Amino acid sequence: MLTFLRKPPFLRVVIRVILILLIYFILPVSLAKILNVKPIKPLFLFYLINAVILFYLFRKSSLKGYDFERRMQGLEEKINLLNAEYAKELKNNSGLKEKSLRYNSLGKILEKINLSLELEAVTETIASEAFSLIGRDKGVCILYLIDSRTQKLVLSKARKEDRGLVIKAKEGDIIDFWVLRHVNPILIGDIKSDFRFDLDKLIAQDIRPAASLISAPFLSDNKELGILRLDNEIPNFYSEDDLRFLVSISDLGAVAIENSELFKRAQDLAIHDALTGLYTKGYFLERFKEECKRTVRQGISLTLLMLDIDFFKNYNDQFGHTAGDIVLKKLSQIMTESLASFNPLIGRFGGEEFCIAITGVDKKETYKIGDSLRSKIESARIVLRRSETNITVSAGLASLPADTLDDEELIRKADKAMYEAKQKGRNQVCCI
Ligand code: GH3
Ligand code: MG
Ligand code: MG
Repeated sequence: MLTFLRKPPFLRVVIRVILILLIYFILPVSLAKILNVKPIKPLFLFYLINAVILFYLFRKSSLKGYDFERRMQGLEEKINLLNAEYAKELKNNSGLKEKSLRYNSLGKILEKINLSLELEAVTETIASEAFSLIGRDKGVCILYLIDSRTQKLVLSKARKEDRGLVIKAKEGDIIDFWVLRHVNPILIGDIKSDFRFDLDKLIAQDIRPAASLISAPFLSDNKELGILRLDNEIPNFYSEDDLRFLVSISDLGAVAIENSELFKRAQDLAIHDALTGLYTKGYFLERFKEECKRTVRQGISLTLLMLDIDFFKNYNDQFGHTAGDIVLKKLSQIMTESLASFNPLIGRFGGEEFCIAITGVDKKETYKIGDSLRSKIESARIVLRRSETNITVSAGLASLPADTLDDEELIRKADKAMYEAKQKGRNQVCCI
C-alpha cells in the first residue's frame, strides 16, 4: 500500500538523466573548451567536489528515505489496524442488525401465538418459529410438555430437517431431565466432551447423532410446564445469543401454554361435571339432541336410561355429605366402566340423577344392559367411614323410534318410567 508514492514518475527520471549529463559531461567539457584549458585538471577537481557533495546528498537522502520508509510502514500499520477495526465494526453491526431483527420477530411470534387458545396450535407455532429462527431449519426442534397427572415429559411437537428421522426419547433424555431438575437453560457445544452427561446413557436413550444443543424450560410462576430444545449434529452450531433468544421464546410460550391449559380446563368444566367427570346436563342434552336427529335419520335405535339413587338422603344423613360424594364418584365409575363397550353418552342430570343414552342397540337388549348395570351397582361394595355398604338405583327406560321420534318426549317418557320404578319398590328398571 502507498508504494506508488515512492516511485518517481518516468518523466522525472528522464529529466534527472538529462541534468546529470548536462552538469557532469556537457557543461565541464564546454567550459574547458571555452576557457581553452585541458579539461583533465579542472575536471578532476570538479568531479572530486561533486563526489563530496553527491556523497553528502546521498547520505542525507538515504537517511530521509529511511525515515520516509519508517513513516510509511507506520502508516501502513495504522491503516491495517483501522481496516481490521472497520471489519470488526461491520461484523458487529451486522450482528446487531441480526439481533434487532430477531427481537423484532418476537412481537410477530407473540401475535401468532395469540391467534389461538388451543394448546395444539400454540405448541405448533412455538416449535415452528424456534426451528426456523434459531435452528435455521436445520437439525431438530422438540417441544415437550409435562403431563400434569404423571408429572412426566411427553413429546408434544417435533420439527426435523430430516423428516424421516425418528425421535426415540418420547419422554425426554438425561439432558432434558437436567434442564428440568436445574430449572435452567443449557447450551452444549459438543455433547461428546461434556462431562455432565453420560454419553452411553444418551446413546441408549436416543440414537440421533446430535452434537450441539440448546434447551430452555417453559416456566410460569416457577412452575415447569415443559421444555423447548434444539439440537444439531454439527458441533457448536448454536451461540449464546441463540440460547438467549430461545429463553425469550420459551418465556412467551410458557404464558401461552398456561393460558391454553386454563382455557382447556374452563372448556372441560363446561362439558364435564367437576365431581363425577361425567358430562354436564347442558352438554349431555346438546349431544343427546344431535344423536336423536342422527339416529332418526339413519333409522337406528337410541335408548335413554334415567337413573336415580334410592334413598340417597339417608347416606348423606348417616355418613355425611363428603361420604355421599364418594358414593356419587363410585357410581359414575361403575357406569363408565361397565358400559364402555357401548360407547354411551353419560350425563349427570342433577344431584344423584343420571342419564345414559345408548345407540345402535334395540329396546329389549338395552333393558338387559340396564338391568345388568343395576345389579352390578347393587353388588358393588362401598366403604364409608370404615363400614361397608352398598347402594341401589331405580331406572326408567324409553327408546327411539319404538316409543317416540321426539327427543324431549323421550326424556319425559324415561323419567316417567323411572318414577314407576320408584313406585314399584325401587332397585329395578322399568320400561314405558
Ligand atoms: P329416592 O329413593 O326417592 O330417590 O330418595 P332420595 O333420598 O334419593 O331422594 P332424593 O332423590 O329426593 O334426594 C336427593 C338427595 O341427594 C338430596 C341431597 O342431599 C343429595 N344430593 C344431591 N346432590 C348431591 C351431591 O352432590 N352430593 C351429595 N353428597 N349429596 C347430594
Ligand atoms: Mg334418589
Ligand atoms: Mg333424586
